[in-house]
Formats: sequence, C-alpha cells, structure tokens
Amino acid sequence: MTLIETASRGQITPEMEAVAQAEGIDVQKVRRLVADGRLAILKSATRDVMPVGIGELVRTKINTNVGTSIDFVDMEEEIKKALVAAKHGADAVMDLSTGGDLNVIRRRILDAVSVPVGSVPIYQAAQNPDMNSDDMFNAVRKHAADGIDFMTIHAGVTLSAVEHLKKRRRILDVVSRGGAFMVVWMAQHEQENPFYAEYDYLLEIAREYDVAISLGDGMRPGCISDASDAPEFTEIVTLGELVCRARSKGVQTIVEGPGHVPLDDVGASVIAMKRLTHYAPLYLLGPLVTDIGPGYDHITGAIGGAVAGMYGADFLCMVSPTEHLALPTIEDVKEGTIVTKIAAHVADLTKDGQKDRAKTWDDRMAHARKNLDWDAQFNLAIDPEKARKIRRGRKTSSDACSMCGELCAIKIMRDILKE
Ligand code: SF4
Repeated sequence: MTLIETASRGQITPEMEAVAQAEGIDVQKVRRLVADGRLAILKSATRDVMPVGIGELVRTKINTNVGTSIDFVDMEEEIKKALVAAKHGADAVMDLSTGGDLNVIRRRILDAVSVPVGSVPIYQAAQNPDMNSDDMFNAVRKHAADGIDFMTIHAGVTLSAVEHLKKRRRILDVVSRGGAFMVVWMAQHEQENPFYAEYDYLLEIAREYDVAISLGDGMRPGCISDASDAPEFTEIVTLGELVCRARSKGVQTIVEGPGHVPLDDVGASVIAMKRLTHYAPLYLLGPLVTDIGPGYDHITGAIGGAVAGMYGADFLCMVSPTEHLALPTIEDVKEGTIVTKIAAHVADLTKDGQKDRAKTWDDRMAHARKNLDWDAQFNLAIDPEKARKIRRGRKTSSDACSMCGELCAIKIMRDILKE
C-alpha cells in the first residue's frame, strides 16, 4: 500500500509520525491531509532520509537545485553544493544535471545528503537525440529505483497547451528546459506528450516505488508580460486533472508553478492554482516579481516567494544570484538557499499551523537584541557566520554596535528604564 492509501484507510505510518513531530501538529491531522492529497511526504521507500512534509499546516519548505551543465561537469563541486544547501536549511535538493554521467552524479548526490532528493528524468532521456517514449519511461523507472524521493514530470505540456502558445505569441515562448524538450518532441513526432498520453503507465511506476510526482510547469511564464496567460492556465487545468488521477491511484503529487509574476498578481495566481489543482501542495520557482534583476534574482525571487507563501504556496525553489546568467557557484548556492529560507520563514509568520512557532524565533531574536546579547543574536541568525563576520569587521568599544556606539537607542532606553 502506498502512503496515500494507508492514510486513506485511517492508518498512521512512521513517516506521518515523523512529520507530525517535526511540525508540532497532531498526527491525525497529518494523516487526513495526506489522505486528501493536501500534504505530500517526500521520502523514497528505499532511502534512509528524514521524511519531509510539503503542504498545508506544515512549515513552508525550500528546495535547492544543484547539478552539472553541458559546459561545467564537476561532480565534486555539485556534491559540495548539495551539502552546502542542506547545511544552510534546504529541506530538499534537486539534481538537475545535464552534463557527464548522470547515473553516477545522481547516486553520489543521493549518498551525500540526508534530505529528500528530486530529479527530472526527461533530462536523462533527452541525452538520446532519438529519444522515444520508452526512453522517457525507462528514465523515470531508473530514477525511482535509485531512490529518488520526488521527480518532476512535464505531463501537462500537451498539444492543446502548445496550440494556446501559438495563438498567444508570448515574448518568451517556453523557458522550462523540460517543457521545451516536450514541445520539440511533440512537434517532431506529431504525437501527444507520452507522459500525458500514457499517464496511467507513469502512475503505475510511481505507485510501485511510492515516489511523489511533481507535475512540472513547462508552460510557466518567463517574463512579467507573459504572466498568468492562457498557455500557463491551460496547463494548470490539465495538472488539476492529473492530480485527481494520481490520487485515485494512490500516488502523491505536488504541482509546480511560475516563474515570473508581477507582485499584485501573486496572490490571485496562487489562489487560482491551488483551486484548479484541488489544493495539491504548490511548488514555486520564485516567482520573480521583476525581470530587471540579473545578479540579484535571489532577491526578486524571495520577494515573490514570501508573498506566494503567504497566499498558500508550500514549497519554494531556491533562485540563485546567477539565475539567467550562469551555472551557480557553491557561494551562489549558499546565498540563494539562505535568501529563500528567509522568504519561507516570512511566509510562515503568516501561515496557519506555523505562525506561532515561527514567531517564537523572531521573539527570541528581539530579546537577544534588547539584551545586546551578541552570541545569542549570532546563534539565532539565519546566517551566523555572516552576522559574526560583519560585527567583527567594524568593531566598537561599546557593548552596542558600531552603527550608533554609545548613542545606541536600545542601550540608552535599557539604562534609563533600569533607573
Ligand atoms: S548601536 Fe544602533 S544599530 Fe547597533 S544595536 Fe544599538 S540601536 Fe541598534
């Protein structure tokens, strides 16, 4: 029996217990949410990782992408990135490798980290220039058998969505790598997307390994002008249909979303996506709220991610400072992960089931500030190393900081109120 089926029968599994304990919520609530498909638990049956819950009532989670490209194939560096991401709070890591021996890289990453690992099997299938549908499903089976905890499948990139794309004439037609692979394959073969046409077979494989499917957003908008258009929402409607079919077969799903969205559309966009996909956990890349931030897109993504989380997005994908420019370095991955973690925490300060817990962290920091207790502030900081380095770099003889020194308002008020 799969996790979703067990939950539907009223039974509690160790995975549900682990999530309930980690999140500070009642295990029966976890069970019910899993049964309803509103909470996905990422954990392969074959890997010894801490199960991670994505969805309602639980902490907003973040994923960090790592992986080689065709131009940069340095396996050791990608493993270091995965470790750095996990160290700085990534709840999951996705291996998006496209260069080198993908089987070896995937296994090395699976062995290296103790957080759930996701993948995109079409990247491997597409290494064969004559890729056929068997290559696609074989890649899915291979990744599941290797112990991948969740995998992105672009099953919603259908012939119908491509027709909408042709009519819409976007500025940036398709910016999803997996989405582009599927569009090209359909055009060359004049056939429907195999992941859509043979979705039941895909579900059989997912069911066999009890691996969660992350339904990819191949039609996500790649710029502000293309946001929330017909191709995107045609795909979302299809993803909603695929969520229901997966649930009926006992397969957990997550739905992926955009992309680039203006800030005042983020809330409506999240609410619509949630409704159209039957409240499946929502996984967003950003969304980036402007197109003019190359070099700082971890920030444009975090602004969108925080607002999206407030409206119900459950899982935020790290955007690195090198987004749109280059493969990130280890330092870029660290910075992107930390900034995304902040966005997720900002969302949790507003999230049902988590806001009180999240606020406890902020309150502890506020008290440490009031006491000018620098060690406590460093320990509570999202990036203790950076906080320590900044304070050390600009010293003061005062017990305050070198911003105001003896004119420190906190210190003055503390001393006055003591008297
Ligand atoms: S010196 Fe100024 S900036 Fe530093 S802690 Fe005191 S009030 Fe805050």
